[in-house]
Amino acid sequence: MAMSARQQTPVVPLEAGAGPDNPPCPACGEPLFGWIDLRAGLAGPVSRCESCGLGVVAQPGSAEDALRGLDPLTDGGSIRIVNRGGFAAWIGGAGWPGLEPEAHYLYTAESVRRLAAHRDQVVSSSHWAPGAGIATMWQTVLNGFTFGRNVALAALGRAEAAPAGKRWQRRMDAGISVVVAVPAMLFALPMELIAAACRRGAALKLRIELL
Ligand SMILES: [Zn+2]
Repeated sequence: MAMSARQQTPVVPLEAGAGPDNPPCPACGEPLFGWIDLRAGLAGPVSRCESCGLGVVAQPGSAEDALRGLDPLTDGGSIRIVNRGGFAAWIGGAGWPGLEPEAHYLYTAESVRRLAAHRDQVVSSSHWAPGAGIATMWQTVLNGFTFGRNVALAALGRAEAAPAGKRWQRRMDAGISVVVAVPAMLFALPMELIAAACRRGAALKLRIELL
C-alpha cells in the first residue's frame, strides 16, 4: 500500500527540536541548531536559529546579553551588522569573516528586529552597507586561500584576525593576501552586488526607532 507524500515527510514543528542540545534562541525563543563545530580561535561551537537567523558562539545567553552585543555596533539611531543571513556567510561557512575571535552573537536583520522589540524599539529600515559589504565578501573569498582568517581586513584595521598557528603559515598568509587581493576582489565585487540585489548583502545598516 502506497503512503501519501504527506505521510512520508511528516512536518515537525521547530519546537520539537528543543532540548539540552538545542537551547532557545535569545532573540526569538526557537531552538538553536549546530552550524559550525568548534574551531581554533573561537570560544565554542557555533549554532544558529533557523527562524530569525541569529548565530551564537558557545552558550546562547539571554536576550539582554544579545542586546548588549549590539551596543558596540550602535551609532546613534543606527546599527551596522555583518549579516549572518547574507550570501557571504552562506558561501564562507567556517571561513566567514563574521566569525571574529571575540564574536559571541552573529546578527541578521530579523534577529535584531526581534531583539529590539525587547527594548520597545523597532527596526524602521534596513539597507545594504556597500563598503563593509564588499570588504566582507572580499575577505570571505580571501579566507578560502589562507591558513588564518581575516588577515587582510585586520591589516586594514577593519576586523579582528584569527592568525594561523605557525609562523611560516602567518608569513605565507601575508603573501597570499597580497597576491590574491585583486583576483579575489574581481570575484567578490559582482558576487556582493548580486547578494545586495537579492537583499542578502554581507553588511547591513539598520535604523532603530523607539516605539
Ligand atoms: Zn531566533
